[in-house]
Formats: sequence, structure tokens, C-alpha cells
Amino acid sequence: MAVQPHFLLLTYPAQGHINPALQFAKGLTRIGALVTLVTSLSAGRRMSKTLFPDGLSFVTFSDGYDDGFKPEDDRDHFTSELKRRGSQTLNELIVDSAKEGKPVTCLVYTMLLHWASEVARAQHLPAALLWIQPATVFDIYYYYFNGYGDIFNNCKDTSYAIELPGLPPLASRDLPSFVLPSNTYTFALQMFQEQLEQLSQETNPKVLVNSFDALELGAMNATEKFNLIGIGPLIPSAFLDGKDPLDKSFGGDIFHGSEDYTEWLNSKTKSSVVYVSFGSILVLSKRQIEEIARGLVDSGLTFLWVIRDEQKKNEVKEEEEEEEEDHLRACREAILERQGMIVPWCCQVEVLSHPSIGCFVTHCGWNSTLESLVCEVPVVAFPHWTDQGTNAKLIADVWKTGVRVVANEEGIVEGDEIKRCLDLVMAHGKTGEDIRKNAKKWKDLARDAVKEGGSSDKNLKAFVQDVGEGCF
Ligand code: UDP
Repeated sequence: MAVQPHFLLLTYPAQGHINPALQFAKGLTRIGALVTLVTSLSAGRRMSKTLFPDGLSFVTFSDGYDDGFKPEDDRDHFTSELKRRGSQTLNELIVDSAKEGKPVTCLVYTMLLHWASEVARAQHLPAALLWIQPATVFDIYYYYFNGYGDIFNNCKDTSYAIELPGLPPLASRDLPSFVLPSNTYTFALQMFQEQLEQLSQETNPKVLVNSFDALELGAMNATEKFNLIGIGPLIPSAFLDGKDPLDKSFGGDIFHGSEDYTEWLNSKTKSSVVYVSFGSILVLSKRQIEEIARGLVDSGLTFLWVIRDEQKKNEVKEEEEEEEEDHLRACREAILERQGMIVPWCCQVEVLSHPSIGCFVTHCGWNSTLESLVCEVPVVAFPHWTDQGTNAKLIADVWKTGVRVVANEEGIVEGDEIKRCLDLVMAHGKTGEDIRKNAKKWKDLARDAVKEGGSSDKNLKAFVQDVGEGCF
């Protein structure tokens, strides 16, 4: 008798992993699969299970850091405990599911959890990696570890000297920061290396990418070794394909939000507001925050700015040493005058789809990048580290849906530069009009990809058929 395919989906406990993993899980249940979503207790506590559809169950385990991993914690200890306790949980779930008549068909895991594929191998199960960065970045890591490392080490910011099969010419600022000679996060580079080594050991490695074929045409099949499977964008259905109009948020916010911005946005005119957010991890220097404040105030534009509590704590720490500067004060005055609003967290995808939003100043995290694309919002790309430089390259030079800021010699993006970029994107000059035209084009292509019969829809179904042979 046919059984329902059952996916065990393990997600790393970070916002940028949880969001696409949850959407992926929902997509699987829509095509009739069962999903058991597994994550750590700290992340699980913040999931709003009311949004979970039938067929999706949820399991948490203690990774020993039940209040969440903090920068001051011991990373090696955290990584090894996550692996030890996570592997144990997966093994138990695989055994229990079989006993309950719902045997696991395939184990899917997000980046940084490559040990999950060892669990799958030991249990004779197929495994798939859910890659939550662009295909382009996967390829760059592959090339880095397979013969191109020296070229990366010798390249410059100003010349597009890095030519890799299937990818646009790249300068050093377009590479993931972990492959640059200046990288200090050696553990991160090592994790990517281990991930690629794991995949190389598999006879039929499967890499599902939160992207779609048309978006990264060359990158999906760039390397001979891996055919990447585009199954994105993984965005709540209400904003993408409308298959589930109630699916309006990711449903897994690690941070506390603020509800009071919607009415404020409703009072603003169409495409007039600049939305500013740097994601869930990045903490900017006080100087950088002040320059952003200056750029926003000088632009005269209305803005909604997410400043997480950790950022504020950092500012207080730095303020003990310095006097508050004029532009931040000016920004606070502007807020009092309702030119702007600062919130600690918001439902970003809802904000981006609000008609009042005209531009997104973003750190170019991959989720934020895809969300801007799907919501047709032009971008001021303000990358900092990891994959963000590559994502900014795609935004500014390949899809041309935004402009990229240029930092000064100290690595600070000054207020004048931010204002210049905002003027370009928000004004009705040629640059702004071209960007808006391209944003419309890519939004349509993103929606086409996930439609019935679109590339991502077909790829997802083919993947499920492939690993779930004998099911349904
Ligand atoms: N996000 C959100 N509210 C905020 C800021 C961010 O919901 O106020 C979400 C955003 O929609 C995205 C995720 O957090 O899905 C951040 O992921 P991304 O890959 O963009 O950046 P990261 O946080 O991993 O650097």
C-alpha cells in the first residue's frame, strides 16, 4: 500500500534558516507530504504553531543553549553540542516514525548542519541540503575549494578579474567574505568546506536552493559536480502565489515585534516610505548608525527603520565612551516630527508588500533579497559580510533592481552616500525608472516559477517523486 512521503526537516536555530525552512515545509505539505520540522528549543519557543498546516508536526530539542546562542558563548562547545544532541534526536525520530507507520522518506537539513547527512547515511536514508543562500554563492565556495583559491586571494575590489564558469565576472567585494584573505571567521569557512566534502561523498547529492532557475540561470548548473535544484523563492504564499491567502507571515519570529507600524504605514502615500533593516544578526557600529540617520534625515524621505534591541545595547555601550553626535539627535527629532519611525522588529514581508514602501535599504541577506524581489521593492544594497556582497552584486549588476552603496576607506558608508543612493532609487530619473521596471520583471518571473507548472513547482515535485519513490 502506498504511504505518504515523510520528510524530516532539520533547521539551524537562526532566523535566516527558520524562515525558508518553514516555507519549504508548508510547500511539501501542500503536495501531500508529511513533514516533521526539527529545531532547537530556543528557536522553537518563538514559532507560532497556529500557522502550521495539517501534515506538519514540530519537534524541539535542547542544544544546551536554551536561551539562544550569544556572541560571548563558546562557539565550539555550541557547535559540538548541537551536533551531538541533534544527531541523537534525529536518530530517535527516525526509529519512532517507523514504529508509528510513518517511516521517514528523506532527511533535509539547512546549511551549517552537514552532520545530519551522516545520520541519514547511517540510517540508509536519502538526504538533501536546503541551501539558503543563492546558487551563485554555493558555486563560489565550490570553486574556492576546487582550484580557484589562489585567484580569490589575489583579486581586488576594483577589477572584475574573477571569471568562474557560469557566473558573472566578479571583483573581491562580490565574493562571500569568508573566502577573502581578510576573513577572521575560520570556523565558518571550515564548515562550508566540510559541507562540500560531505556532499562529495554522496553518490547522488541533492542540493535544494532557495532560488529559481531564471534568477540564476548559469549558476544552477555551473559546476560539473552539482546540479542545483531551484525550489524558491520560499516566501509566505499570500505574497507569492496566493495558494494560501492566510499564509501571511513566516511564523517563526525569534525577536519580539511591534504592532504599531501598520496604521502608520497606512497613512503614507504610495511608494513614499524607505524601509531600513539589516536583518537578524548584524550589529552596526554607532558611527555607522549615525551616518544612516544623517542620510535618511538629509534625504527628507519618510522611513521605517528596524533597530533590534541588541543594536541599542551596543549603542549604549559605545555611548559610555562618546558623546551622542548631531545626526543621531537629528534623526530622533525627525522621528518626533513623524518623518520616521523606529521599531525593534516587524513582519518584514508584510511591510515590504505594503503599497507605501518605495525602497528597501538592506544588508542583502538572501531572504531579504528574495523578499524585496517578490514584493517588487527597489533596493539600496548595503552589504557587510558572508554572502551579502555577492547578493548585492546580483541586485545591482545582474538583475539591476537596485544600487549599491560605496563605503569610505574606513569601511563606513557615509550619510551623503546613503542620500545619493536614496535619491537615485526614489526619484523619477532614468536610474529609478529602470530599476522599477526591472523590479516588476523579476517579481513576475518569481511568481511564474512557483506557479503550477513553473520551474520551482516542477523541481520540487520531481524531487519528492525522486526520493519518495513508491510513496503516494
Ligand atoms: N525579518 C523580519 N523582521 C525584521 C527583520 C528581518 O521578519 O524586522 C526577517 C526577514 O523577513 C528575513 C529574515 O528575518 O526573512 C532575515 O534573513 P536574511 O537572510 O535577510 O538576513 P540574516 O538575518 O540571516 O542576516
